[in-house]
Amino acid sequence: MIEHTKAFVDGAWVTASSGEEFAVINPASGGCIARVADLSAGDAVRAVDAAHRAQPGWAKLSARDRAGILRRWHQLILQDQDALAALITLEMGKPLAESRGEVAYGASFVEWFAEEAKRVYGQTIPAHQPSQRILVTKQPVGVVVAITPWNFPLAMITRKVSPALAAGCTVVVKPSEDTPLTALKLAQLALDAGFPPGVLNIVTGVDAPGIGHALIADTRVRKVTFTGSTAVGKILYELSAATVKKLSLELGGNAPFIVMNDADIEAAVDGAMLSKFRNAGQTCVCANRIFVQERVYSDFVARFSARVRALTVGAGDQPGVEIGPLINADGLAKVEAHLADAVARGAQIEVGGMRHSAGPLFFTPTVVSGVTPQMRMASEETFGPVAPIYRFATESEALALANDTPYGLAAYCYTRDLGRAFRMYEGLEYGIVGINTGIISTEVAPFGGVKESGLGREGGPHGIDEFLEVKYGCFDLGSQDDRV
Ligand code: NAP
Repeated sequence: MIEHTKAFVDGAWVTASSGEEFAVINPASGGCIARVADLSAGDAVRAVDAAHRAQPGWAKLSARDRAGILRRWHQLILQDQDALAALITLEMGKPLAESRGEVAYGASFVEWFAEEAKRVYGQTIPAHQPSQRILVTKQPVGVVVAITPWNFPLAMITRKVSPALAAGCTVVVKPSEDTPLTALKLAQLALDAGFPPGVLNIVTGVDAPGIGHALIADTRVRKVTFTGSTAVGKILYELSAATVKKLSLELGGNAPFIVMNDADIEAAVDGAMLSKFRNAGQTCVCANRIFVQERVYSDFVARFSARVRALTVGAGDQPGVEIGPLINADGLAKVEAHLADAVARGAQIEVGGMRHSAGPLFFTPTVVSGVTPQMRMASEETFGPVAPIYRFATESEALALANDTPYGLAAYCYTRDLGRAFRMYEGLEYGIVGINTGIISTEVAPFGGVKESGLGREGGPHGIDEFLEVKYGCFDLGSQDDRV
């Protein structure tokens, strides 16, 4: 299943100049599944050399030709859906069905941006002088650095790389050290699809700060696109300032999930299950705070708790498993710390609340009620299978509680009142709002946050703009020249 453990630079598989490697761990078993090239900051700069050399030639291809290669990559990813899914489950732990879903979701960005490549339109603007013509065109920004997290080892790469390549940029990807194998398999498929050497490079390594610093300090890199924690995003924002790079940041969230008295409660329970427990609660758009209005509070807690109690926990490659392990010991420690703090401050555990016997990184899906804004889990992402439930009285109280956070990625609201649905949509200070749905990710819509959840949008008609510069040309035609 594991074909590649070397990094991918300039169309070739390369070892670290030091010869060092690092271990990739299966979080379900704790076993080492591969040893992967541990590139240094200096090695990473060689990937920028390659991307910089390749960029002009890649940008000169017609959009149709770039789109053709992207379309082949899309087909190859889907043809290898099962193998890619098995790899995601192996190195990241999510259940196989979710991994297959991630491959399809990740591939959808490649297809979407293959189509968008051909629609990078310019503009003509009526000029301010009779002799002048104003032209506006779009050009690729140049070399792009993409730094991605472990929770979607495939989709977080394709969501960045596809629009960049479609626009005519070349890319250096630094995947998480927890999940480099899926990235390397994607590189093999890109090679098979026909991307020229240097257009897509994958730098693997454990020295994320050193590699990140070297890549961002390089003046040839013109754009940084990052998905990960807000803390690291702020470091990259600062680093980018030195050379005034374009920047996209998809950072942490603290998603409110609001259930109004007038909601369809069964639909709200379905939505909360999907939003909270996908990827064992390790997504940036996971419901992190579930607010339920007083009249339906008990009913919601009872129905939701029954569903959570029935979830099947285990290794992601086992049939029927719905909840896999947490990614590592730090992830587990955070879940336990949040829960202990909530209980110490008076919250009640309805279901779960303890580790699971499936292995050292497994946690039993948990519902905790009576949670209040003073508890740690109200202000920080838990990033695990713990669902905290808060009680509220009025619509304006729900809105105030939901917006009382520095984050602003995704929010959800269940209501059957049309006016309330619009008021909540408009009032929630979030980049993405799901009304009566717990699943909002799609390649056709712009994904991204406000406030400390980030800058820029990925996907949809807006996604490609992040990798394009707008150029304005002013042409003065002079006066008529009748000489023969
Ligand atoms: P993370 O610790 O910020 O890591 C993300 C990436 O940055 C990894 O490749 C990591 O490398 C690298 N990195 C770490 N420190 C760095 C530094 N000083 N300089 C340069 N790169 C550095 O985040 P994570 O724990 O992997 O992912 C979870 C977070 O991502 C959560 O907060 C989640 O909400 C957020 N997320 C956001 C979105 C979104 O679209 N908004 C989507 C998914 C996840 P190593 O892994 O090798 O250390």
